[in-house]
Amino acid sequence: MGAIINKPGTARNSMTEDEPGAESASGSASGSPTSSSLVALATQAFLELGAPSFIHVNLDAVVNNINVLKSLSGPNTGIMGVVKGGAYGSGLMKVVDVLLQEGVQELAVATVAEGVYLRKHGVNVPITILGNLLACEVEAVTSHTLTPSISWATALVSQPKHKLLYPDGSRLSVAINIDTGMSRYGVQPADLPQLVQQLQQLDVSINSMYTHFQSAITEKEKNQKQLDIFLQATEPYKTRLHVAATTGCVQGLATHLDLIRPGGAITGLCSGSDSEGCQQFIRCGFQPAFSVVAQPSFYKLLPAGRYIGYDATYQTHGDEWIANFTTGWSDGISRRLSNGVGSVKRVKTGELCPIVGRVSMDSITARLPEAPEEGEVFQVITDDFDEVTSAVGMARNLGAAVYEMPGNWSTRLARVFSTSGKIVHISHSLDYEC
Ligand SMILES: *Cc1c(COP(=O)(O)O)cnc(C)c1O
Repeated sequence: MGAIINKPGTARNSMTEDEPGAESASGSASGSPTSSSLVALATQAFLELGAPSFIHVNLDAVVNNINVLKSLSGPNTGIMGVVKGGAYGSGLMKVVDVLLQEGVQELAVATVAEGVYLRKHGVNVPITILGNLLACEVEAVTSHTLTPSISWATALVSQPKHKLLYPDGSRLSVAINIDTGMSRYGVQPADLPQLVQQLQQLDVSINSMYTHFQSAITEKEKNQKQLDIFLQATEPYKTRLHVAATTGCVQGLATHLDLIRPGGAITGLCSGSDSEGCQQFIRCGFQPAFSVVAQPSFYKLLPAGRYIGYDATYQTHGDEWIANFTTGWSDGISRRLSNGVGSVKRVKTGELCPIVGRVSMDSITARLPEAPEEGEVFQVITDDFDEVTSAVGMARNLGAAVYEMPGNWSTRLARVFSTSGKIVHISHSLDYEC
């Protein structure tokens, strides 16, 4: 499945509250190979779910992205797959299954609860917790054989030594986060020797040392400076090192250390929304896995002069076909996509249909060029790099993070997972847990 890439420079018109503006010319080509297989999958999903909208997670894209990540990293470099936030909104367990099948050796999540969830679902590979360890988390971390991150020894010094053991009797092993410029978590490089000494006294072993880049794909020199500081600080120690998340992988920075540590790239999400960085990301070959698919739940032809939705923010200019889709901000679509900032994509033709009126809690209204066909398929978020409808396009237009766009979707829409265009798993509405 080829990603549909817009030509750069098809800038979206800025739109006022009551003027959704012209449809963007950036739609995908009609009749593209994706559209017919998507229509078949969507038709089946609508029937199986008994619902008119769902989140589609294309697991082939995840496989593709792992292969891209392997090609971007050194021959002896492993992958620590970051699957926090329910694999960035795509759904934790199915994405993890694919990662493990594809030979990903380790996982990382943000919170202890996410790590415990993975253990309770039978995941046995090493799991690093990226958030800073607190004393109240030590018990859960050790009893589930997780690897916590630490920036200081504070959480550990208050513990009796027998609490710093895993169930098999081995010593707690920690990942040391080093602050090389991000200034979020991490021990200052000057304080690292003292921290290592404290850990020795506590009989805690060191699993790895890592740092995290602060700057965008287009700012390689700044990240290089952080890498230099990191390599110098860690030089005296014999331990595993990992630095490159999605940005580093695209930049080719720190991709030959012991591990890479990508998250967003796994589901084809670019780490930034700027066009130039995004073009570099696309050129690597990544494909978005996440999209939101819907058929209209209702439509009508309205005459000129009608006001649509809460607060009457959009007025029809002439006869306009207005369709409802059953998804709103309670599912995860930003209210700031109201009134032409966002559009839905008509799969049959690739046309963009502007969202008119406010995004409401459970529904959006879009202006269609004509009456839709029975059960016609639309995408509310596209699995491409479209300037309006993709996660990266939306994030750019909203001044938001790309990862927020799928990451904010709740459990109310079912998640439908596919391989080779076939549905392989469904996480039903409100059943999806993590
Ligand atoms: C989230 C996170 C990652 C993954 O970053 P991506 O940009 O999603 O690849 C890696 N390391 C740390 C410390 C993180 O918090």
